[in-house]
Amino acid sequence: MYRVWLSEIMLQQTQVQTVIPYFENFLGRFPDLPDLAAAPADAVMNAWAGLGYYSRARNLHKAAQLCMSQHNGRLPEDFDALLALPGIGRSTAGAILSQACGARHSIVDGNVKRVLTRYFAIAGDASSSTVDRQLWQVAESLLPETRMADYSQAIMDLGATVCTSKKPQCATCPLASGCRALAQGNVLDYPGHKPAKSIPERETHVLLLRTKSGDILLEQRPEKGIWGGLYSLPEAADADQARFQASAIITARSPSPIALPAFAHIFSHFRLIIRPVLWDGCTAKSQIRDNARMRWATPEELLLLGLPAPIQKLLKRLP
Ligand code: SF4
Repeated sequence: MYRVWLSEIMLQQTQVQTVIPYFENFLGRFPDLPDLAAAPADAVMNAWAGLGYYSRARNLHKAAQLCMSQHNGRLPEDFDALLALPGIGRSTAGAILSQACGARHSIVDGNVKRVLTRYFAIAGDASSSTVDRQLWQVAESLLPETRMADYSQAIMDLGATVCTSKKPQCATCPLASGCRALAQGNVLDYPGHKPAKSIPERETHVLLLRTKSGDILLEQRPEKGIWGGLYSLPEAADADQARFQASAIITARSPSPIALPAFAHIFSHFRLIIRPVLWDGCTAKSQIRDNARMRWATPEELLLLGLPAPIQKLLKRLP
């Protein structure tokens, strides 16, 4: 059971071929559960190094220690007790018990999910709770009365080697005759994904006021919101407002503004179109009125101030 548990945890998020040498090395160092429980955390992490998703190793180690203190040094064969151990979810608990003890428990891991959604043409976002519930019900209804370990292994292997994500081998698949997705001709539509969210777009004009000596006017952003507290270029809602704002800061003898090419910056929840307007070689009025957050920065100071990345890029592109 220890070996099945170890392999199931290693196979979460990792391909079989990658897992094999790690599995053998790990078993060589910690041949059974008490050895693993007694090992120093560093030794466990070291044996896992390179396999990724390190919380799996931490949970494995913690679970082994809990088994020592609560389950007489063995993995519990009771489903709920197994599920209560760190790093073991419903599907992993089912996989361990069905393979190690032949118990009737279903598995709905990524591979099984793919096989079931295709075979039964279960549409909809496979990560949604509705489809998840449907998949567990279907998986439950398929459980055989005998040879549970073989069944679990077979359905997981089918998903991993035949009903693969991008190039399913339908021509040689033993389930082909009853597969609805194959009959419909849309195998790759399953499992369904979340519809891609369209990101809203916002637009801003940034004022690029540059004096003959290369000083640039900056404005500190409010603490809250994007680029909170950073110095950036002053912003305006549109070109007219940009001109109006500039007229309060630079003299009328300054050159006319030039609209520079707009560019986009993507935030996690929106896309910002930045339209820079350049007043090059402008003359600053004697003081910046009504706004204590503004300051002229010399080219040297610009290098030291942590400006937002797209603004830094914009300044670097200036002739
Ligand atoms: S026939 Fe194709 S899509 Fe259907 S279960 Fe087999 S490999 Fe998957």
